[in-house]
Amino acid sequence: MKRILVLEDEDSIRSFLVLNLRRAGFEPVEAATGQEALERLREFPDVRLALLDVMLPDIDGFEVCRRIRTMDSRIGIIMLTAKSQEMDKITGLTSGADDYVTKPFSTAELTARIDALMRRTGEAVAAAPPAEELRQGAFLLNTRTRVLTRNGHRIRLTQIEYALMRLFMSNPGKPLSRGEILTQVWGKDSGAEEKVVDVNIRRLRIKLEEDPNAPLCINTVWGYGYQWNG
Ligand code: CA
Repeated sequence: MKRILVLEDEDSIRSFLVLNLRRAGFEPVEAATGQEALERLREFPDVRLALLDVMLPDIDGFEVCRRIRTMDSRIGIIMLTAKSQEMDKITGLTSGADDYVTKPFSTAELTARIDALMRRTGEAVAAAPPAEELRQGAFLLNTRTRVLTRNGHRIRLTQIEYALMRLFMSNPGKPLSRGEILTQVWGKDSGAEEKVVDVNIRRLRIKLEEDPNAPLCINTVWGYGYQWNG
C-alpha cells in the first residue's frame, strides 16, 4: 500500500492532488490543517510519504515537518512551496524535508518526485540485504538495519541522509560531484536540483560534526562536490 498524506488547506488544490494521486495508484489521506495532519499520521502509521503545504491557517508546513521528524525519521517528506518562497525551500529542507516542489507544478512532475522518494523509502522496507557494516573512525553504519552510530551512540537519520551516508562510507576519501550524489541518492530521473544536495549535506553536518561550520567528516570540494573523511 502506498499511502500518502496530503496536507493542503485550499480545498480545490487538495481535491486536485487527491484525485491525481489516486489515479496514479496511491492512497491519499487528506488533511487541511497542521494539527489534522499530525492526527492523520497517528491514525495511519503506514503513511510512507507526506506532501506538506507551507502556508497554513494553524501551524505552518515547516513546523509540521519538524514535528513529523521527531516522531518518524523514515517517512518521505516533500514540501509544496510557492514560487515566491525561495528561502522557504531552504528552511523546509533544514527542518527535515527530503525534497520540495514549486507551485504551480504538473501532476507528472509531482508523481516523478513521489516515485523517486518512494523508491528510496521503499528500500527501507522491501530490501533486506545481508547484514553489513561499514566502519570508519568512530562511525558505524549498519546497512541492514540502516542505523548509524558514532562511538556506539545512535544518530537518527532521514532516508535521504541514510542514503548519503551509505554513499559516503562506501567511497571514503573519494570526491563525489553534486551530480553524482544527486543521481545516486535522489535517483536519475528525480528532477531534483543540485541545491538540494547542499542543503541535505548542511543538515547532515549539523548531526555529525562537532562544529558544522568547520566540518571534519564531510569536506567540501570547492566547485565540485563533497568528500567523506570520517
Ligand atoms: Ca496554503
